[in-house]
Amino acid sequence: MAEPYEKLQRGDGLLLVDVQRDFCAGGRLAVAGADEIVPLLNNWITAATAKNIPVYASRDWHPVRHPSFQEQGGKWPPHCLADSDGARFHAGLRLQEWLAITKGVRFDQDQYSVFDQTGFAVQLRREGVRRLWVGGLALDVCVFASVMDGLQEGFAMQLIRQATRPVNEKDGDESLDRMARAGAIIIDGS
Ligand SMILES: [Zn+2]
Repeated sequence: MAEPYEKLQRGDGLLLVDVQRDFCAGGRLAVAGADEIVPLLNNWITAATAKNIPVYASRDWHPVRHPSFQEQGGKWPPHCLADSDGARFHAGLRLQEWLAITKGVRFDQDQYSVFDQTGFAVQLRREGVRRLWVGGLALDVCVFASVMDGLQEGFAMQLIRQATRPVNEKDGDESLDRMARAGAIIIDGS
Protein backbone atom coordinates (compact mmCIF):
# COMPACT_ATOMS: atom_id res chain seq x y z
CA MET A 1 0.00 0.00 0.00
CA ALA A 2 1.19 3.51 -0.76
CA GLU A 3 2.49 5.42 2.22
CA PRO A 4 0.62 8.63 3.05
CA TYR A 5 3.72 10.73 2.46
CA GLU A 6 3.68 9.68 -1.18
CA LYS A 7 0.64 11.95 -1.53
CA LEU A 8 2.76 15.05 -0.98
CA GLN A 9 2.36 17.30 -3.97
CA ARG A 10 2.93 20.81 -5.24
CA GLY A 11 1.07 23.32 -3.10
CA ASP A 12 1.73 21.30 0.04
CA GLY A 13 3.92 22.09 3.02
CA LEU A 14 5.14 19.96 5.89
CA LEU A 15 4.84 21.41 9.39
CA LEU A 16 6.69 19.91 12.35
CA VAL A 17 5.44 21.43 15.57
CA ASP A 18 7.89 21.78 18.48
CA VAL A 19 9.85 18.53 18.13
CA GLN A 20 12.20 19.78 20.81
CA ARG A 21 14.26 18.03 23.45
CA ASP A 22 12.31 19.39 26.41
CA PHE A 23 9.17 17.69 25.07
CA CYS A 24 10.92 14.35 24.54
CA ALA A 25 12.26 11.68 26.90
CA GLY A 26 14.42 13.24 29.60
CA GLY A 27 13.16 16.74 28.86
CA ARG A 28 11.63 19.21 31.26
CA LEU A 29 8.12 18.71 29.91
CA ALA A 30 8.40 15.26 28.37
CA VAL A 31 5.39 14.01 26.40
CA ALA A 32 4.88 10.23 26.61
CA GLY A 33 5.95 8.49 23.41
CA ALA A 34 7.34 11.66 21.87
CA ASP A 35 10.52 9.98 20.67
CA GLU A 36 8.49 7.44 18.70
CA ILE A 37 7.29 10.05 16.24
CA VAL A 38 10.79 11.04 15.12
CA PRO A 39 11.40 8.17 12.63
CA LEU A 40 7.98 8.78 11.09
CA LEU A 41 8.67 12.46 10.75
CA ASN A 42 12.00 11.66 9.12
CA ASN A 43 10.14 9.69 6.44
CA TRP A 44 8.00 12.72 5.80
CA ILE A 45 11.00 15.06 5.72
CA THR A 46 12.78 12.83 3.23
CA ALA A 47 9.72 12.60 0.99
CA ALA A 48 9.07 16.34 1.16
CA THR A 49 12.67 17.24 0.43
CA ALA A 50 12.76 14.89 -2.56
CA LYS A 51 9.71 16.64 -4.01
CA ASN A 52 10.81 20.16 -3.20
CA ILE A 53 7.96 20.57 -0.73
CA PRO A 54 8.78 23.25 1.87
CA VAL A 55 9.42 22.05 5.43
CA TYR A 56 8.61 24.26 8.41
CA ALA A 57 9.70 23.47 11.95
CA SER A 58 8.35 25.47 14.86
CA ARG A 59 10.04 25.86 18.20
CA ASP A 60 8.96 27.08 21.58
CA TRP A 61 11.56 29.64 22.56
CA HIS A 62 10.84 31.12 25.95
CA PRO A 63 12.56 33.84 27.96
CA VAL A 64 13.22 33.03 31.62
CA ARG A 65 10.17 33.88 33.74
CA HIS A 66 7.89 33.36 30.76
CA PRO A 67 4.19 33.80 31.70
CA SER A 68 3.42 30.16 30.80
CA PHE A 69 5.68 28.93 33.63
CA GLN A 70 4.19 27.86 36.94
CA GLU A 71 6.31 30.31 38.97
CA GLN A 72 4.65 33.08 36.97
CA GLY A 73 1.16 31.67 37.47
CA GLY A 74 1.15 29.70 34.23
CA LYS A 75 0.39 26.07 33.56
CA TRP A 76 3.77 24.53 32.75
CA PRO A 77 7.14 23.86 34.33
CA PRO A 78 9.90 25.93 32.77
CA HIS A 79 10.76 24.50 29.34
CA CYS A 80 12.36 25.41 26.02
CA LEU A 81 14.33 28.33 27.35
CA ALA A 82 15.73 30.30 24.44
CA ASP A 83 19.15 29.01 23.38
CA SER A 84 19.14 26.15 25.92
CA ASP A 85 19.79 22.52 25.02
CA GLY A 86 16.17 21.73 25.84
CA ALA A 87 15.00 24.10 23.14
CA ARG A 88 16.98 22.32 20.43
CA PHE A 89 15.26 20.02 18.00
CA HIS A 90 15.32 16.31 18.83
CA ALA A 91 18.79 15.03 17.94
CA GLY A 92 17.33 12.30 15.72
CA LEU A 93 15.29 14.66 13.59
CA ARG A 94 16.89 14.80 10.14
CA LEU A 95 16.03 18.30 9.08
CA GLN A 96 17.68 19.24 5.81
CA GLU A 97 16.32 22.49 4.47
CA TRP A 98 13.67 24.11 6.55
CA LEU A 99 12.30 27.36 7.89
CA ALA A 100 12.10 27.78 11.64
CA ILE A 101 9.04 29.38 13.19
CA THR A 102 9.94 30.78 16.57
CA LYS A 103 7.15 31.35 19.06
CA GLY A 104 6.62 31.86 22.77
CA VAL A 105 9.07 34.74 22.89
CA ARG A 106 6.65 37.33 24.24
CA PHE A 107 6.79 38.56 27.83
CA ASP A 108 3.07 39.18 28.07
CA GLN A 109 1.44 36.04 26.65
CA ASP A 110 2.05 32.52 25.39
CA GLN A 111 1.66 31.46 21.76
CA TYR A 112 0.60 27.84 21.29
CA SER A 113 -0.22 28.24 17.62
CA VAL A 114 2.42 28.58 14.92
CA PHE A 115 0.07 31.14 13.33
CA ASP A 116 -0.19 33.33 16.44
CA GLN A 117 1.51 36.62 15.58
CA THR A 118 4.32 34.95 13.66
CA GLY A 119 3.44 35.94 10.11
CA PHE A 120 3.45 32.26 9.15
CA ALA A 121 0.23 32.45 7.11
CA VAL A 122 1.74 35.23 5.00
CA GLN A 123 4.85 33.16 4.38
CA LEU A 124 2.80 30.12 3.35
CA ARG A 125 0.83 32.17 0.83
CA ARG A 126 4.03 33.71 -0.47
CA GLU A 127 5.38 30.20 -1.06
CA GLY A 128 2.20 28.98 -2.72
CA VAL A 129 1.31 26.55 0.06
CA ARG A 130 -2.38 25.74 0.30
CA ARG A 131 -2.30 22.51 2.27
CA LEU A 132 -0.24 21.59 5.33
CA TRP A 133 0.62 18.12 6.62
CA VAL A 134 1.21 18.37 10.35
CA GLY A 135 2.95 16.34 13.03
CA GLY A 136 4.75 17.10 16.27
CA LEU A 137 4.11 18.01 19.89
CA ALA A 138 1.92 18.14 21.65
CA LEU A 139 -1.31 16.98 20.05
CA ASP A 140 -3.63 18.59 22.60
CA VAL A 141 -1.69 21.85 22.94
CA CYS A 142 0.40 23.42 20.16
CA VAL A 143 -0.56 20.97 17.40
CA PHE A 144 -4.24 21.48 18.16
CA ALA A 145 -3.96 25.27 18.28
CA SER A 146 -1.95 25.34 15.05
CA VAL A 147 -4.32 23.10 13.11
CA MET A 148 -7.36 25.10 14.22
CA ASP A 149 -5.71 28.40 13.28
CA GLY A 150 -4.55 26.98 9.96
CA LEU A 151 -8.14 26.11 9.09
CA GLN A 152 -9.22 29.61 10.11
CA GLU A 153 -6.59 31.02 7.80
CA GLY A 154 -8.04 29.00 4.94
CA PHE A 155 -5.43 26.27 4.62
CA ALA A 156 -6.30 22.62 4.19
CA MET A 157 -4.92 20.88 7.26
CA GLN A 158 -3.94 17.20 7.31
CA LEU A 159 -2.92 15.84 10.69
CA ILE A 160 -0.60 12.83 10.62
CA ARG A 161 -2.13 10.89 13.51
CA GLN A 162 0.86 8.62 14.21
CA ALA A 163 3.28 11.53 14.14
CA THR A 164 1.93 13.33 17.17
CA ARG A 165 1.44 12.60 20.89
CA PRO A 166 -0.70 14.31 23.54
CA VAL A 167 0.27 15.56 26.98
CA ASN A 168 -2.97 13.98 28.13
CA GLU A 169 -4.73 11.10 26.32
CA LYS A 170 -8.25 12.31 26.99
CA ASP A 171 -7.49 15.83 25.82
CA GLY A 172 -5.75 14.33 22.80
CA ASP A 173 -8.87 12.41 21.80
CA GLU A 174 -11.02 15.46 22.29
CA SER A 175 -8.61 17.54 20.22
CA LEU A 176 -8.83 15.02 17.38
CA ASP A 177 -12.61 15.24 17.43
CA ARG A 178 -12.61 19.00 17.45
CA MET A 179 -10.08 19.27 14.64
CA ALA A 180 -12.01 16.80 12.49
CA ARG A 181 -15.27 18.65 13.12
CA ALA A 182 -13.59 21.90 12.16
CA GLY A 183 -12.54 20.39 8.84
CA ALA A 184 -9.08 18.94 9.39
CA ILE A 185 -8.31 15.59 7.81
CA ILE A 186 -6.88 13.01 10.19
CA ILE A 187 -4.42 10.77 8.35
CA ASP A 188 -3.66 7.28 9.64
CA GLY A 189 -0.49 5.48 8.72
CA SER A 190 3.14 6.52 8.74
ZN1 LIG B 1 5.96 26.61 25.89
